[in-house]
Amino acid sequence: MHEMAIAQGILDIALTAAAENGAAAIVRIKLQVGAMTEVEPEALTFCFAALAAGTAAADASLEVEVTPLVGRCRDCGREFRVERFRFLCPACGSAAVEIISGRELRVEHLEVE
Ligand SMILES: [Zn+2]
Repeated sequence: MHEMAIAQGILDIALTAAAENGAAAIVRIKLQVGAMTEVEPEALTFCFAALAAGTAAADASLEVEVTPLVGRCRDCGREFRVERFRFLCPACGSAAVEIISGRELRVEHLEVE
């Protein structure tokens, strides 16, 4: 399960950060998840809650922000939002598109107490 592995990774990052800061509990975790990762925010929240039970992150609220998939045309330089994984430049029709955003998966903010 995709989300379970990701949730475990997030939990590891959060617990390590809490330990380094001498924090007793993790209150809030804000995540940025690119649309390209195809992560289901609800499934991720569910997996995280299951894994975090009994740890310092047991009561942490997990906020998942899905960032849109943005591509840039290598031929004309146009940047555009990629809808439904249609990697074609809307300006010139080129398929030479590089992804500039939408693949990220990172902890953006972590609140401890
Ligand atoms: Zn183009």
